[in-house]
Amino acid sequence: MPGQIFNQLTLVGCGLIGSSIARVAREKGVVGKIVVADPSEPVRERVTALGLADEVTGDIGAAVAEADLVIFATPVLAIGEAMALAAGDLKPGAIVSDVGSVKGTVADAMATHAPAGVFVIPGHPIAGTEHSGPDAGFAELFDGRWTILTPLDNEDPHYAEAVARLSAFWRACGAQVEVMDAAHHDLVLAITSHLPHLIAYNIVGTASDLEGVTEGEVMKYSAGGFRDFTRIAASDPTMWRDIFVANKDAVLEVLGRFTEDLQALQRAIRWGEAEKLHDLFTRTRAIRRGVIALGQESAEPNFGRDRGKH
Ligand code: NAP
Repeated sequence: MPGQIFNQLTLVGCGLIGSSIARVAREKGVVGKIVVADPSEPVRERVTALGLADEVTGDIGAAVAEADLVIFATPVLAIGEAMALAAGDLKPGAIVSDVGSVKGTVADAMATHAPAGVFVIPGHPIAGTEHSGPDAGFAELFDGRWTILTPLDNEDPHYAEAVARLSAFWRACGAQVEVMDAAHHDLVLAITSHLPHLIAYNIVGTASDLEGVTEGEVMKYSAGGFRDFTRIAASDPTMWRDIFVANKDAVLEVLGRFTEDLQALQRAIRWGEAEKLHDLFTRTRAIRRGVIALGQESAEPNFGRDRGKH
């Protein structure tokens, strides 16, 4: 057992990710006290009923005042605003992090509002499901998954100590930790997570718009690939709206590359270039086997295990 790493953890936002952190932090005994701040009364009621926290409030300032670790687990575009509300009440020496799926713009928003004397360390656990809300969380969510930390440019040795402490927290929660530059994170996630979601939203939209194909047929014959796309396309609309707004540049960059490759495939199909198709499909099958060999077959955000409806 790693033992207690922080006296008080405050989670701002307690949906799928926030409630999973609360569950595992309590289960592993890595924090002394858990406080949750969420503006939504129904969420606060569920958090209380589920016994996820020692205190539950709608007042962000009061929630962070005694915390030595604050984690923002709200949708991406709400993180800067939540940080602004918390800023005046943060304790000197507190570590302030987040779980947002985009790091560049979010890290800038956090750093802009941060008071002197706190350690802002943006983070992103690469783990999730397509479900949301406090009932959807579970303590094993981060087991064996990666949490990426994107520390700010900071030469202070105390900052490095804070990064080491936050890394120890995530390891105690079951995750593996990687440190990365925010811009690199956003590019990697644009191709591994954001673009696949965009494709899923698009293909499900196109199928339901197709003239002559009724929605009934889409449901009835959706086997294999399409069924998986519908699961991904059921992901939280607010969360994904925010991701595409916040990671615009990286998404547009990989989308341009993807569109070129798709056009090359279109040409190969038109001209009957069977070998070309076979070569690509062989290469991608090997990649899938590599993903399984690394034990990350369900690690992509929102590609996680289907825990049933909540
Ligand atoms: P979620 O289940 O919808 O939870 C978000 C929670 O934040 C909700 O309780 C929401 O309340 C609350 N909230 C909204 N605005 C807020 C504000 N201004 N201040 C405080 N709380 C606020 O979403 P989630 O899946 O846990 O995602 C949370 C974050 O984790 C996002 O930034 C997302 O990018 C990141 N993430 C998600 C996944 C995933 O697979 N889901 C994986 C990795 C990282 P309401 O319900 O009232 O809106």
